[in-house]
Amino acid sequence: MSNNFDLSGKAALVTGGNGGIGLAMARALAGAGAAVAVSGRDEAKTGAAARELGAVALNFDLADPEACPAMVDEAARRLGRLDILVNNAGTNIRKAPQDYSLAEWHTVIDTNLTAAFLASQAAYPHMKRGGGGKIVNIGSMMSLFGASFAAPYGASKGGIVQLTKSLAAAWARDNIQVNAVLPGWIDTALTRRARAEVDGLHERVLGRTPAGRWGTPEDLGGIAVFLASPASGFITGTAIPVDGGYSSLG
Ligand code: NDP
Repeated sequence: MSNNFDLSGKAALVTGGNGGIGLAMARALAGAGAAVAVSGRDEAKTGAAARELGAVALNFDLADPEACPAMVDEAARRLGRLDILVNNAGTNIRKAPQDYSLAEWHTVIDTNLTAAFLASQAAYPHMKRGGGGKIVNIGSMMSLFGASFAAPYGASKGGIVQLTKSLAAAWARDNIQVNAVLPGWIDTALTRRARAEVDGLHERVLGRTPAGRWGTPEDLGGIAVFLASPASGFITGTAIPVDGGYSSLG
């Protein structure tokens, strides 16, 4: 029986693939046989991740709109093709809505949402040329729920779900499947900062998550492989929570 989850011969770019959830996804994709490129801003982190995975290292600041197509084209050139794009790079600035500057709003929206759009746009011709492709966008529980301390982040992650549906509808006949993953609360550098900044967050997450624990980046490996593989060939436009049950509670 052929292995529907095999990614041999496929090439994948994971943005923010130098740490946290992105690195765990890149590791899983490489483990399933894909050639991988990881991108980030911190050259030391990106270099270390690339060495571990035998991956291509790319350093771009995705808050810069011109960086997105440059990153995608360099990944495709160095990997020889591009079949899989994981739009995972993300950031957050936590404060009350009335206190954000316009520049802070743009930092979050541009990194989390605009970059995912521009990278997908740049990936499209490469995927079409290759006969199809897979785009995996990383949303959040804040794609579903609001957060008093994260208005731009929530707006960006809500936008990711609607962007996913629109790209999925537009590119389905090109055999490009576009899906979103909505992680619950996962223990990474991003949420270690959140725990330091938001009083009582750690206890609230533990109390509300039916699984009774924070997720680990490795909890996201399986969904990355599934959504990048032929096994998910008829799944497009969805937003799949990977959250230990967090979003199943009212
Ligand atoms: P990390 O802080 O560990 O990773 C964030 C990644 O994004 C890093 O690789 C970072 O690279 C990259 N990045 C951030 N800003 C930029 C930028 N301007 N240009 C290029 N790369 C950038 O956090 P996570 O692993 O937790 O986050 C990964 C994704 O998962 C994000 O989209 C986040 O919103 C999402 N998420 C996380 C959850 C969690 O509980 N941890 C829950 C729901 C969603 P570098 O360090 O080199 O700047």
